[in-house]
Amino acid sequence: MTVSRREFIAQSGSCAAHLALVGAVWPAAAQRMWSESNRGSIVAREPFGNLEKISDGVWALISTPFNNDRTTLSNGGIIAGRNGILAIEGFNQQAGATWLAAKTRDLTGKWPTHVALTHYHGDHANGLAGYFGLAVGGNKPIVRSTQRTRELVVERNKPADPSRESALKDAVVLSGSEPTTIDLGGKVVRVVPRSGHTDSDVSLELEDPSIVFAGDLLWNGIFPNYVDAVPTKLATAVRELRRAKDTTYSPGTAPSRAPRITTATSQCSARSRTRHESHMRPERASRMPALHSHCLRPSASGRCSTRRCLGRRLPRGIKS
Ligand SMILES: [Zn+2]
Repeated sequence: MTVSRREFIAQSGSCAAHLALVGAVWPAAAQRMWSESNRGSIVAREPFGNLEKISDGVWALISTPFNNDRTTLSNGGIIAGRNGILAIEGFNQQAGATWLAAKTRDLTGKWPTHVALTHYHGDHANGLAGYFGLAVGGNKPIVRSTQRTRELVVERNKPADPSRESALKDAVVLSGSEPTTIDLGGKVVRVVPRSGHTDSDVSLELEDPSIVFAGDLLWNGIFPNYVDAVPTKLATAVRELRRAKDTTYSPGTAPSRAPRITTATSQCSARSRTRHESHMRPERASRMPALHSHCLRPSASGRCSTRRCLGRRLPRGIKS
């Protein structure tokens, strides 16, 4: 695939470009570990990602962006209720959305009835039109995004794509200030407006089972893309995402995990917390239920090894 200089400049701040940079410097072993890690049972495996069942009627697509396949790049998911099915994210290319729609039909017998975008970045939104058209049986799902996300997709995601804009034209606008719900029948998805990764993010949340699709507010195991981020808002958003019960978090990028994230004690400075929480690694927190979950780099000696926290001893009984 060739990318013109103009396209590169337009895309160089996106999460896709960020992943390309990270991929260039990440060790091959770490990339392989990412591709192979999973927590659910894999129901479909592709060069661009794995579709994992994480609960009855809930699947997470965990993309493997370092495999040189740009079909999806971002993570996404499916939440199926009795009356409706929500597909999460539009992905990097239309083929990614079309693939997820087809998998939805394989798994549930129905095409997606709703599509939600967590934020505007191209790897989450550019393939949106793939949910529409003949390739998916003439399907016409209801697209949901905030007004700001819709504006940003049109303004910033290049090259422009009339089919993407057409798919967004009749989108149901989500509140940018108050949580709303999507009732799928037996599953009510809470859509919570947030910000911090971009000017307008949303998380998609289920209560029982406790599952959070966090978009790029969470990056698991990889340094996040800060190009649009406001660190103080991002830290607040991540803090608010934490639940005091076992919860599966599906990050926007990197493998999902099932951590016990606690509302933990704070031993780091506020500035340090901001940094740590924005790339919270829930799998570490899951092994440290009593530990402050923002500070996830304890050393074998039981001392936190991050620079700002260096020397602080972990609570007794907590192993690194
Ligand atoms: Zn993003």
